[in-house]
Amino acid sequence: MRTRVAIIGSGPSGLLLGQILTNAGIDNIIIDRVGKEHILARVRAGVLEEGMVGMLDRAGVGARMHREGLPHDGFSLAFDGRDHRIDLFDLTGGKRVMVYGQTELTLDLIERRERDGGITIHDAANVTPAGFDGDSPYLTYDKDGVSHRIDCDFIAGCDGFHGASRKAVPEAAIKTFEKVYPFGWLGILADVPPVNHELIYANHPRGFALCSMRSNTRSRYYVQCSLDDTVDMWSDDRFWDELRRRLPAHHAEALVTGPSFEKSIAPLRSFVAEPMRFGRLFLVGDAAHIVPPTGAKGLNLAASDVFYLIEGLLEFYQEKSNAGLDAYSAKALKRVWNAVRFSWSMTTLLHRFPDNGDFGQKIQEAELDYLTHSRAAATAMAENYVGLPY
Ligand SMILES: Cc1cc2nc3c(=O)[nH]c(=O)nc-3n(C[C@H](O)[C@H](O)[C@H](O)COP(=O)(O)OP(=O)(O)OC[C@H]3O[C@@H](n4cnc5c(N)ncnc54)[C@H](O)[C@@H]3O)c2cc1C
Repeated sequence: MRTRVAIIGSGPSGLLLGQILTNAGIDNIIIDRVGKEHILARVRAGVLEEGMVGMLDRAGVGARMHREGLPHDGFSLAFDGRDHRIDLFDLTGGKRVMVYGQTELTLDLIERRERDGGITIHDAANVTPAGFDGDSPYLTYDKDGVSHRIDCDFIAGCDGFHGASRKAVPEAAIKTFEKVYPFGWLGILADVPPVNHELIYANHPRGFALCSMRSNTRSRYYVQCSLDDTVDMWSDDRFWDELRRRLPAHHAEALVTGPSFEKSIAPLRSFVAEPMRFGRLFLVGDAAHIVPPTGAKGLNLAASDVFYLIEGLLEFYQEKSNAGLDAYSAKALKRVWNAVRFSWSMTTLLHRFPDNGDFGQKIQEAELDYLTHSRAAATAMAENYVGLPY
């Protein structure tokens, strides 16, 4: 089999890249180690920057998002028994974010690819990129006990943090940077109306909490938990009690509770691999970087990586120029590090760190209080939250 761009991974990065390439007439094959049902069962991100919204429109899959998504003009910072709204729209001169689940946009992209007849190979084992240091890269994989090979011009490694692409790069050619945080997020989904029409990020001496949503009838709530905790230690009742304790009284009283239908614990980590290009192999999205979900940047970074890679590939195929591909890694990493810094600073500001004690709590409250009085500080936060330009 031969294609121009072989894409490993059918998550948001791979699907978005594949669709925009297809729209531009550049043939591509997506290959994933799991099936469609598995991919659509993942509950992950839900806050989209305007850049991501624009990329979904460019892919031609934005209609349902505009119909069903919830545009948000602000969010609240809750601390010390009160809350303060960060007015994104006002502080950024008219920018906002869109609340629309990763599962939904993944479904939109999969359906569009199916309608267009795009090739996606699911349930492929031992996917291995090779030959990318020369002019003839290829992938090998096994399916139903048979080995296969796809020859291509370029390989896009969109296969997430645990994928095969980054691992195929010789150790000496890659440098990684990592910070692991000493806590996790316990998240639930429940079909109850959200406690607030916008997100609430809560700093509390008992730990961080986030009130988010997927729609006007489905809520996504999180509490900071210990890395030693397991899901079965957290009954719904325990979760709701803990969330209430961490919210200002007016929100705690308004909280509508109900049975959760999804509950999981995610560890928090910042990770970057440099560079993001190795000959004809390009790392995209979580394959190259991970951020803690505070600040909602993971999924959005996948979209900006795709933007820069598309620029390079279009230049290569339409103008016979390598300039865009040569610039990919530096351009993507510049934006990645800005988002890594922002996610780290939001995480540091809002979580209870085991070693920082009451002193750390007081410093956080002083910084949050400063944000409520300084338009400059609030603007810096808003500008980063809505996403820096591509
Ligand atoms: C539990 C969780 C919660 C999150 N919450 C948020 C959030 O609230 N806000 C936010 O902004 N971000 C969040 N993120 C991050 C966000 O979901 C990711 O940044 C986003 O999914 C990145 O998309 P991707 O396509 O690069 O990678 P992925 O979505 O990981 O997709 C990678 C794809 O590659 C496939 N694959 C992996 N290995 C192989 C292989 N060897 N061979 C073939 N295929 C392979 C996988 O099956 C998968 O389909 C969360 C992530 C997780 C894990």
